[in-house]
Amino acid sequence: MRWLQHLALVLLVATATFATIVSGHAFLAADKTTVTELAPGVFFRKTQTEPEFIGCNQGWVIFKDFVLVIDANFPNQADKVQEIIRSQTDKPIRYVFDTHYHGDHADGNVRYVGATPVASERSRLEFETKGIDGFDKSKQSRPDEYGELKYKQPDMYFPHELVFDDGEQRVELLHFGHAHTMGDAVAWLPKHGILFTGDACVNGAFNYTGDSNTESWINVLNAMDELSVKTIAPGHGDVAGKELIATQRRYFVELRASIKKMIDAGKSLEEIKERVELPFYEEWTGINVKERVENLEHVYGELTGG
Ligand SMILES: [Zn+2]
Repeated sequence: MRWLQHLALVLLVATATFATIVSGHAFLAADKTTVTELAPGVFFRKTQTEPEFIGCNQGWVIFKDFVLVIDANFPNQADKVQEIIRSQTDKPIRYVFDTHYHGDHADGNVRYVGATPVASERSRLEFETKGIDGFDKSKQSRPDEYGELKYKQPDMYFPHELVFDDGEQRVELLHFGHAHTMGDAVAWLPKHGILFTGDACVNGAFNYTGDSNTESWINVLNAMDELSVKTIAPGHGDVAGKELIATQRRYFVELRASIKKMIDAGKSLEEIKERVELPFYEEWTGINVKERVENLEHVYGELTGG
């Protein structure tokens, strides 16, 4: 756990400790929202997912004259993050980098008043279509939080790379291709070996594949693996070392191979859902892959041209 060497601050933000598990095996410790300083001026907020999913993980980097936030999160979490940043520095939050368009990463853009939301050019279409739709749905389902807020799309798009460097901090925003969404990008901090991956690499049973291309996603993970990463700050789940890239890749490689084998043997989608086995996935996430119905259906669709 090399990242522990960099750990200078751990702030307990949430207080929930235990959640009753209805299914019977007693108690499961709830995870907590924590803030960790991964390197001087580089913060990672791991956001609680159990017992309640409250949003994505976030990062922020304090430059000499400004702050860059990585992932806006939901509006209410965006407010919480700004409170924390305001307790650390009075430098303005000038940029909010959205790793992709999903609401739990980008709907909070509107709450960063005065900051410029930034995303990869390949995500523009997604923001303009599915992003707006998702925001409108959340306005109806979460009126207390969304209220009269207006959808805020990125003001700045970059093709493959955008670099922020003031001599002290360096953050490279990189788009490697279609992964979790068409427009995924990551934030690479080469001085510290820290990679903020958004949902292109997560730590646990958080993969949503609805907007993905899992074959291309494997290539994107290969490209990330070329970087000299020491620490992965994922979009969901705990911080990890570089090995998380291989773990995330293994999931898609084995899932695709396993489903392809059953398709080739003439199995139907229903049979595949019943028979699929990926013991490593359960070791990694604590969840049987059979429960990842959305992932199974998506990969089946990809492999059958559906
Ligand atoms: Zn996502």
